[in-house]
Amino acid sequence: MIRFIKPDLPPPERWLAYLRPAYQNHWFSNFGPVYELFARRLSECFGMGSRVAVPVANATAGLEAVLRALEIRGRVVVPSFTFAATAQAVLAAGATPLFCDVDPVSWELCPTALEELLSSRSANAVVTVRAFGLCRDLAPLESVCARHGVPLIVDSAAALGGSGPGIPVGHAGVAEIFSLHATKVFAIGEGGIVLCPPQLATPVRRAINFGFQDGDVIARGVNGKLSEFAAAIGLAALDELQRHIAARRATVDRYLQQLSPWLEKGIITAPHAPGEPPWQTLPLLLAPGTDAEALRRRCIRAGLELRRYYHPALHRTRLFRHYGLKRALPVTERLCSSMICMPVHATMKPSLIDAASALFSQALTDTFRAREPIYEPTRTSAHCT
Ligand SMILES: *Cc1c(COP(=O)(O)O)cnc(C)c1O
Repeated sequence: MIRFIKPDLPPPERWLAYLRPAYQNHWFSNFGPVYELFARRLSECFGMGSRVAVPVANATAGLEAVLRALEIRGRVVVPSFTFAATAQAVLAAGATPLFCDVDPVSWELCPTALEELLSSRSANAVVTVRAFGLCRDLAPLESVCARHGVPLIVDSAAALGGSGPGIPVGHAGVAEIFSLHATKVFAIGEGGIVLCPPQLATPVRRAINFGFQDGDVIARGVNGKLSEFAAAIGLAALDELQRHIAARRATVDRYLQQLSPWLEKGIITAPHAPGEPPWQTLPLLLAPGTDAEALRRRCIRAGLELRRYYHPALHRTRLFRHYGLKRALPVTERLCSSMICMPVHATMKPSLIDAASALFSQALTDTFRAREPIYEPTRTSAHCT
C-alpha cells in the first residue's frame, strides 16, 4: 500500500543533543530553555524582523489563543471548506463560526463573498485558511477586512516554510498559525506555532498559560504550551525543513508530468497559482460528475491511499450545521464533492511516484467507465471505452 502520510521526523540522535539544556536545568516545560531557543530560531527564520514565533501545543490551541488574545467573541467568519479544527478553535474561544463561501479558483475565502457577508452581518473577526498549505497573496482579503474594521487571522496550518507572491507567508493578517502535527511537512508529532507582532505575543503566551501574567490570572486561558521534548524535535526538524520541501516539490512536479494527459483534458485540475508551498499533499479537483468517493475506494483497493481533505464541508456536519445562517455555499459544495489529495512524502522515489500515478490513472479510467450508464442509460457498457 502506498500510504497517504509517511512522516519524516528527525532521528533521535539528531534531537537528543538539543534536549541537553532541559536536563541540565531540570526544566521540561513552562517556557524552558529549549522552548525559548526554538522560539528564537523560528523568529529568525520566519519573523523577518517584524514578527515573533510563539511555539504552542498544536495549531488548534494556537488559533484559540490568538482569538483569546484579541478578545474576540460573537461571530467569526470562517470557510466551511477546511479542517474541523478551524471552526472548533472559534467555538473553544467562546465565539460562533459564521460560514462563508470560497473562491472556485483559489479554493480559499472569496473576497467578494466575504464583502457581501460582512455587509449584511456583523462579525468580529475573519479566519481564513491557506487551503492545503497553498501560498497565495492575501492582500485582497486584508483589504476587505480593513474596510470592515475586523482583524484577519490566518490558519496556515499546512503552509510553514512556503512562500508566495505579495505579503510573505507568516505575515498576513494580525497573526498566522502553523501546525507541526505528524501529518504536516514540518512534523514533530504534536505542536504548532503562532507568528505575530511582538505586542500580540505577550497575550498569546498568557492565553496558552492559563491566563497567567505577572503572577496574576488576568484572562481566560488554556494549557497550550509546548514541551521541551517537542521543542528539541522541532529544532532538529528545522535543520531539515528546506531539504524536505525541495524533495516534495520535485515529487509534485513529477506527479504533474505523469498526470499531464488528464490535466490537459481538464478531467483533473491542479492548484492554480499555488506559490511555493511546502506541498503537504497534491490536491486535485475532479471534473464535475466524477465520483470522488468511488475513485478513492478504487485506489485503496489497488494499493494507493488517497484522502478527501476538508470533506464533509463543515456546514454539513452534525455539530456545525446548527451554526451560521441557512446560506447556500455552492462553491464549497462543489469543491467538497470533487477534491482528492495525492500522497506526497519527503522520501518518495521516482518509481513510487510513477506507480502511484499509474494506479490513479487506472482508477480514474475505471471510474469514468462505471459512470457512463448514468449519463447515457440507453447505451450498454460495452460501448463505453
Ligand atoms: C492540520 C490542520 C489544523 C490542526 O492542526 P493541529 O496542530 O493538529 O491542531 C488546523 N487547520 C488546518 C487547515 C489544518 O490542516
